[in-house]
Amino acid sequence: MDPLHDDGTDAALHAVFSAAGPYLSSLADRPVYAGSERVKELGGSLPADGAGAALVASQLLSVGMESATHSAGPRFFHFVTGGVTPAALAADWTVSLLDQNAFSRAASEFATSVETTALDWLRSLFGLPPSFGGALVASATFANFTALGAATHWWASRHGVDVAAAGLHGLPRMPVFSGGYVHASARKALQMLGHGRESVSVHGAGRIDLSSLDRALASSGPAVVIANAGEVNAGDFDPLAELASVVARHDAWLHVDGAFGLFAALSPRTAHLVEGLSQVDSIACDGHKWLNVPYESGFAFLREPVRLGAAFGMPGAPYLPGADSPRGGYGLLGPESSRRARSVPIWATLAAYGRSGYRAMVERHLDLAQELAGLVDAAPDLERLADVPLCIVCFRVRPPGVPESALDDLNRRVGEALLDDGRVFAGTTVYEGKVALRPAIVNWRTTSRDIELFVSVVRELAATV
Ligand SMILES: *Cc1c(COP(=O)(O)O)cnc(C)c1O
Repeated sequence: MDPLHDDGTDAALHAVFSAAGPYLSSLADRPVYAGSERVKELGGSLPADGAGAALVASQLLSVGMESATHSAGPRFFHFVTGGVTPAALAADWTVSLLDQNAFSRAASEFATSVETTALDWLRSLFGLPPSFGGALVASATFANFTALGAATHWWASRHGVDVAAAGLHGLPRMPVFSGGYVHASARKALQMLGHGRESVSVHGAGRIDLSSLDRALASSGPAVVIANAGEVNAGDFDPLAELASVVARHDAWLHVDGAFGLFAALSPRTAHLVEGLSQVDSIACDGHKWLNVPYESGFAFLREPVRLGAAFGMPGAPYLPGADSPRGGYGLLGPESSRRARSVPIWATLAAYGRSGYRAMVERHLDLAQELAGLVDAAPDLERLADVPLCIVCFRVRPPGVPESALDDLNRRVGEALLDDGRVFAGTTVYEGKVALRPAIVNWRTTSRDIELFVSVVRELAATV
């Protein structure tokens, strides 16, 4: 069917709208996962003629409502995964409706202006000085890529090379230092940038060992240091202020991966964890985690934002606006060219809930994490493995009488059973050599009821596996 002759627009959009309310209100009680058998119905061969928008929309909704992972709900504690606030959801629908290209002002003055405001509000939310500037990107992986790409450009310029034009050929390897918390996605960013994921030299098993780093920087020449604000297993932080003063003694760039941990800045209870943030060179963060906006949303901030254009600007094509053109825009400041207007849900959620709404949500999650830690501590068959500085509780099942040598296997089986059961979701990790669960609380819908259910499901399954 030629889309020009498809009269199903209203029916298709109404189907989505009518399904949305009941679906969203079901999230409070719906299992996170109840199998995805029916997704097969969407397979098969390419339709010759197609069924039209109305039929396809209702088929998709019927299958999706059953087969999706309901990770937007309040009991998905796996990874670090937020949901979507009502304001962000409405804005995201609007983004699809308007289908803007946020490449440049010439493509969309609207998207470019909203992006400027969204970046300014995010900068202000985290208490960064006005000199910081940034780019909205698809994820924290892309934010690490963007920041480390700018760092690479800086590092090559210390060797007299414009790496954006000439590439890495002829340069030595870029020295990269981090601690035990370095995230897989920072390594992936280095891999994509041509440095290799094994280019990171790790100083310290957990937090970066400052004196070891100091010695390494003294002989490395220009270098890049990657710090973690919010480690994924337990939520610990590298000491940013002390790191910044070590790095300031050398010719080095300090990058911080704060994918979710940056939100510690929103509460006076946790702001000390990111003290020193305004002294770093670059910061990576996610929107689709604690900001609770839809995928794909991340952002990078730089202390000297002009470096983004130097690293990510494109050579002119006669039909495109160049970097210094008033019709240019954010497509010249990051890895993507044509891009979705992902600023719009960010703008909308911040416009709807403001600084105080986000502080309240973060503080509720801090309280819920302490509540979960308390329930773990009180249970004779559970053992907490780490402090809880933020929103992650790292613990394991440890029934009395079970020998240490059997605990890893038991906890792996509990982890598998949790995912099969589906009422709540959490993942396993290995923390200080022990297999553990690491639920993360960042969804705006989560309440005490979900935390209590989580603990009772874990204990129930632990008794049966
Ligand atoms: C989640 C996470 C990332 C990667 O984020 P994506 O959005 O999945 O790309 C990077 N660093 C840390 C610390 C994270 O928690």
